[in-house]
This record gives sequence, C-alpha cells and structure tokens, in this order.
Amino acid sequence: MNGKKKITIAIDGHSSCGKSTMAKDLARTIGYIYIDSGAMYRCCTLFAMRNGLIAEDGSIDESEFERRMPEIQVSFKLNEATGRPDTYLNGECVEQEIRTMEVSSHVSPVAALPFVRAAMTAQQQAMGREGGIVMDGRDIGTAVFPDAEMKVFVTASDEIRAQRRYDELVAKGQKADFDEVLANLRERDRIDSTREVAPLRQADDAYVLDNSHMSIPEQNQWLIELFDKLTS
Ligand code: C5P
Repeated sequence: MNGKKKITIAIDGHSSCGKSTMAKDLARTIGYIYIDSGAMYRCCTLFAMRNGLIAEDGSIDESEFERRMPEIQVSFKLNEATGRPDTYLNGECVEQEIRTMEVSSHVSPVAALPFVRAAMTAQQQAMGREGGIVMDGRDIGTAVFPDAEMKVFVTASDEIRAQRRYDELVAKGQKADFDEVLANLRERDRIDSTREVAPLRQADDAYVLDNSHMSIPEQNQWLIELFDKLTS
C-alpha cells in the first residue's frame, strides 16, 4: 500500500459460502490482517465441550459458562507452511479441532449467548482498532464494525455451499455425510438469523456477492475491483 489510510473490511454471509477463503486471499493481496471471527466462536464452543459445559442433549450450563468466559483468549498466528493464520485457544493451536462436525453442530447455540457475543465482539473490536483488517463473520458489518468502509454480504445456494463444505472435510480426511453437512448449515443459518443479539443480516450499505457460479479467481477479482473503487 502506498501510504494510503488503511480501511476496515467486513465480509459477512451465510455458512460455508467461502467467506474465509476470499477474505484471506484479499487480505494477503492488499497487505491487510485477516481475522476469522467464526473461529473465535468455534474456540468458545470447544472450550465449553472440553469443560463439560455442553450436555449430551446439547443443553448448555450457561451460568458456569459465563463465569468461565474470562478464561477464553483467542489469538491467531501465521503458519509459515500454509501462509495462513492458525487459531490458538489459550496458547494451544486448535486449528484442526475447531473445524470438526462436532464443533459445527454446537457452535450456533453457543454464538447466540449474549455473554459469549459481548466477549468476542470486544476482542474483535480491539484487534481491528487500527484498521487495515479484513474480518469475516455474521455480524461484522452490522454490530462489530458498523462504520466499516467496505462491507460485503456473501451468499450461494444451500446445495452448492454444502458440497463445498463436504469436499473440504473429505479433503482433510474427516468423516462426512453430505445430508448431515447440508442439514447442519441450514440449521446454523436459521439459528444465526433468528437470534436476538446481532443476528445474521445484510447491512444496508453492504455489496452483495452471490458466488454460486463463480470461481475463486473470479470472486477475488470482484473483491479487488470493489476495494480499488472504494479506496481510489
Ligand atoms: O464462519 P464459521 O462458519 O466458522 O462460523 C461458525 C459459527 O459461528 C456460525 O455458524 C455462527 O453461529 C457463529 N458466528 C457468529 N458471528 C460471527 C461469526 C460466526 O455468530 N461474526
């Protein structure tokens, strides 16, 4: 960047529509920091699972969870081998563990808890205070950075999104069932869109990107053109 003021970029949208891939690529191209806010909610979920705060039937021990919230610190560190940031929960790399179907199946109820949102939103705002970040999630352009200079709302058809997530899990050697993946993303979208605090919705000033039929290079091009337009 040629000394221009660095802006804040918010990329929100439905589950599994490639937000993190495009956000990472954009950040790398323009020399910004990338932050995966979903990984932070996944860390809270993993913490709760490991500490017996989520019962077999999915119910959550909310008062104990709230009491232990201050113990959760999420950070990101660049992995030199992949060139992408890994997620750390209290200093432990949990990048693989937070992407399992088990975490995915509990994360939306955890992310709907007001005390979880308050803690993660505060950590996200502190990370982005200086600008120069690309953050992806559900409420970045509406609640975390409502003044972000560039907001994108991403979506794609349910089946296409499920296929992408299924392929990703299989490529990582994880067990996956297409129908389960599809049901999980629909259920997460439903909970994320209907929760009381900071629900998933398109910000009024967001640019919509439906990438159902776009390749990764095409969507990267779309984003960089928008970035250039908004910063020129
Ligand atoms: O982005 P990802 O699918 O990894 O996010 C996991 C979950 O975290 C979402 O389904 C949603 O419930 C929650 N989330 C959220 N707000 C964000 C990012 C993610 O509630 N900003």
